Amino acid sequence: MTHIDTPLARSVAPPDRQYGSARPDASTTGRPPHASDAILRVEDLKVHFPVTRGVMFKRQFGSVKAVDGVSFTLRRGETLGLVGESGCGKSTTGLAIMKMLPATTGRIAFDGEDLAGFSGAREKRFRRSVQMVYQDPFASLNPRMKVRDIVAEPLQVHGMAGGRGNLQARVGELLEMVGLLPYMADRYPHEFSGGQRQRIGIARALALKPSLIVCDEPVSALDVSIQAQVVNVFMELQRSLGLSYLFIAHDLAVVRHISDRIAVMYLGRIVEIASRHQLYAEPRHPYTKALFSAVPVADVRAERQRQRIVLQGEVPSPMHPPSGCRFHTRCPSAMPQCSRVDPVLRDQGDGQMVACHLYD
Ligand code: SF4
Repeated sequence: MTHIDTPLARSVAPPDRQYGSARPDASTTGRPPHASDAILRVEDLKVHFPVTRGVMFKRQFGSVKAVDGVSFTLRRGETLGLVGESGCGKSTTGLAIMKMLPATTGRIAFDGEDLAGFSGAREKRFRRSVQMVYQDPFASLNPRMKVRDIVAEPLQVHGMAGGRGNLQARVGELLEMVGLLPYMADRYPHEFSGGQRQRIGIARALALKPSLIVCDEPVSALDVSIQAQVVNVFMELQRSLGLSYLFIAHDLAVVRHISDRIAVMYLGRIVEIASRHQLYAEPRHPYTKALFSAVPVADVRAERQRQRIVLQGEVPSPMHPPSGCRFHTRCPSAMPQCSRVDPVLRDQGDGQMVACHLYD
């Protein structure tokens, strides 16, 4: 059952997050996916932005390495959480997968086919199969369009509208799928709450029957009580439609609830990938440990014993990432070789992958 976040629902919602039942475990280990069950494969992806000087004759004098060698695989029907501090490159990774930003180097394969070679009908099929849900539901919906037109737009663009009656019925069906009601199609975005607007964004993303949705901080702009309702919508849709999600977020409680596996990013790189059970039970990379030490735990005794690891120093500039391990300037466990040798993301034998010399 979905929940409509009407003003009444919001007024009675408890202050803490009320998630539905936790997702069934698709994976209890971080077992890397086989090629056959991978819907998305990202290999050594780099997205660098040139930095130029001069007004007339722009000269490049450097580049921002927003994403600098990211590799991961997403299984069919899986949710992979992508977490890290703001500016670590997670949203840029999502935009490159959507082909909204050009990859500098690396390979992205969807359903086994390289995105770089897509054009014509294959490109169109890809545009239908992969959709995005954005962070700010207000900015992503045209305020001058009725909800009916917003949700119908992708169907019209892709020539899948059918007749007027069919289109209306499909819009109504999509709104119901996200917990809204068909009569709401005649309203404008400003007549809805933040959570309802995000549901409209999800309905629009579903219009073309995608198999993969890139969710870029989809609940971080919402009230905490509404976040849980929208997360539950995502999970229910995944159960009924078999969707795969790349779920980009910085809120670790949200990511823990929705993800099968989680990838942790720092300064343009993935430093650890594991199932959510592994990552929360035994984070291994020193950055993951610090990140997760900030998350309160429900158990009172464990919460009393929780020791917060406070990292020293600022995140270095992605224009000049540190040599060797790029976390060495802040790592409490740094060793002499860490500033010289770049650690490789290695499987620890149980599916948990860590990029750290402590685990070489
Ligand atoms: Fe810390 Fe060295 Fe591991 Fe990097 S490689 S996380 S600096 S111990």
